[in-house]
Amino acid sequence: MKTARKPLKVRYSYLARQFASIDPILADIKKLVASGDFTLGAPVRRFEESFAKLIGAKHAVGVGSGTDALFLSLKALGVGPGDEVITAANTFVATAGAIETAGARVVFVDCDDKFVIDPSKIEDAVTKKTKALLPVHWGGQPWDMDAVLSIAKKKGLPVVEDACQSIGAAVGARKAGSVGAAAGFSLHPLKNLNVWGDGGIITTNDAKTAESLRLLRNHGMSSRDEYAFYAYNSRLDSLQAVVGNHLIKDFEWITQTRIDNAKRIEGALKGIKQLWFPPRAKNERHVYHLYQFLAEDRDGLLKHLQALGVDAKVHYPVPLHLQPASRRLGYKAGDFPVAEAQARRTITLPVHQHLTDEEIEHMIGCVKDFYGA
Ligand SMILES: *Cc1c(COP(=O)(O)O)cnc(C)c1O
Repeated sequence: MKTARKPLKVRYSYLARQFASIDPILADIKKLVASGDFTLGAPVRRFEESFAKLIGAKHAVGVGSGTDALFLSLKALGVGPGDEVITAANTFVATAGAIETAGARVVFVDCDDKFVIDPSKIEDAVTKKTKALLPVHWGGQPWDMDAVLSIAKKKGLPVVEDACQSIGAAVGARKAGSVGAAAGFSLHPLKNLNVWGDGGIITTNDAKTAESLRLLRNHGMSSRDEYAFYAYNSRLDSLQAVVGNHLIKDFEWITQTRIDNAKRIEGALKGIKQLWFPPRAKNERHVYHLYQFLAEDRDGLLKHLQALGVDAKVHYPVPLHLQPASRRLGYKAGDFPVAEAQARRTITLPVHQHLTDEEIEHMIGCVKDFYGA
């Protein structure tokens, strides 16, 4: 595995390139400051309208973060203490945090070979206390909509979609965020549609849910002088909405470039027998927030890539149910064998829309070198 390949820095974060020229955004921020329209003003309403259209949902409600988007969606559906909410064992900690913040107990279900919740294992996890399903469209891969929605219907459970990593993902014509009772999205700087700090947005097709969410995010204020109930302060900042209104124009390009990059890398690596790629279904649109696959000697490959300048990552080395934070829930090693096996083998390569040809070829070359391919 000796190699003469020279290192080349391939960054995971593309923010410096993405925001290399920001004058049009700054000009709009100047206008915002002059208007004093800092909370729930015109830029927020405009972003909500564009976002609802992008997802194909009737309503969109801007909130403070993706975590709040999930938590407030659960609250709007009446989830609270004594309830259980089912989610995927291989998710980011925020999904579980949102369930606990709503006062409910987290119940994990294993994932499948596409890194999304395994529908065949959901029913066994449903109890009398189950109040909602919170499946995660992981890394840009939508979960199996037919299977999950039919279980939800059969059991009479609402679905809150964790679409934080999957803006633009779809199964056929159905976009992630358009099929559940509500869906949470994140606008965090490293998500596919990103702003200059924290931000989140919820989509729903139900007018009543949208109305509850508008109250929940804004102190329960139905007007300046009337408060319907005690609630929260979790508004999408107007300043972030200004940034979002600029970036949403590039969203198709961002998404398609990530897809093209992933396809190019996968086409080049597919023949390597020490690597396993998730099944790619023709009718599913994976938007590659994460370009993730499984590798033999993952730790060796990771070190090799990092030594040659590639910011490869692992999402994640320790599955959530085995983290200290989950100890109280009583899970143990062996409970979710697929998620645990993936944690030992998964690796994520940069796939972002600002990669150059040279950077992509460098990553491909480094992986090939490692396996002598
Ligand atoms: C990022 C993320 C969240 C939380 O979003 P924030 O905006 O960071 O609060 C929730 N779930 C998943 C799967 C995420 O990746």
